[in-house]
Amino acid sequence: MRSLGLAAGLLLAGCAATTAQTFPKPPSADAMVSQAGERPVPASPPAGQQWLYGSAEGAVASAQVYRSLAAYVRAIAISAAPHRQVVLAEGSTLAAPRFDDCGDKPLAAVFDADETLIWNLGAMRYFAEQHKDFDPATWDRWEKTGAGKAVAMPGVTDAIAVMRSAGVTVIVNTNRTAANAKGSEDTLRAAGLGEFKHGETLFLMGDTPDGASKDGRRALIASRYCVIAMGGDQLGDFAQGFNARELSVADRKMLATGEPIAGLWGRGWFLLPNPVYGPSIRGGFDDIFPSDKQWEPN
Ligand SMILES: [Mg+2]
Repeated sequence: MRSLGLAAGLLLAGCAATTAQTFPKPPSADAMVSQAGERPVPASPPAGQQWLYGSAEGAVASAQVYRSLAAYVRAIAISAAPHRQVVLAEGSTLAAPRFDDCGDKPLAAVFDADETLIWNLGAMRYFAEQHKDFDPATWDRWEKTGAGKAVAMPGVTDAIAVMRSAGVTVIVNTNRTAANAKGSEDTLRAAGLGEFKHGETLFLMGDTPDGASKDGRRALIASRYCVIAMGGDQLGDFAQGFNARELSVADRKMLATGEPIAGLWGRGWFLLPNPVYGPSIRGGFDDIFPSDKQWEPN
């Protein structure tokens, strides 16, 4: 039990339509199954949860991103220069991106919710203690009833205050389901993020016909607003093209960090760390370590 794995990738990361690759599971707490067949609660949370939800480093990483993001958004908002969308223009691609001029649309910043604005502490502890990677029925209950058991990530409330005071509308685009809109509105409010309204400042899976892809919802938001910043913990929070099934680990990294996309990070696109679940948690030794860097101590 180290990552939520494929099912969570589908529901949380938004790659259901195009992701067929498996996300290999790290060594599992299944090894702790007792001889009686019962499964005791693990001695500690998995490493990714320890880092993200417990460590000073995880908290600092979030606060650092949000401080940079708020300063960026404020600077853009008060600039007299013409504004431009950071949402890929419809029909353009990651290989040849285009970004539309905004005209006089009102400014907005668009964020994923889970492990971007809020940490889902209640659900994540439950999954870990239950030795579950993910369970759709449990997650559905979490969307409905988790209010008060998720928290704003470090730096979020200050950043939201800065953005709103600069006249920028804060919008959430999440793969939580439209059927549970009230539960997600309640969860965001209870975490101290203020009011979000489904269809206006909260966009959910089911709002557009493209399922777990967020591209359709991004296009809808960009038709109403000038989106000057986006935040997410997975690349599908920026463009669905990153979830293309044919992308290897290395190709996906090259697509995100090479030209023409590289210049967007920290300048309109802001990534939050998530070592717990999602499409970043994949790859074998040969995917991750270059063969010419193999080393042994003898
Ligand atoms: Mg997320």
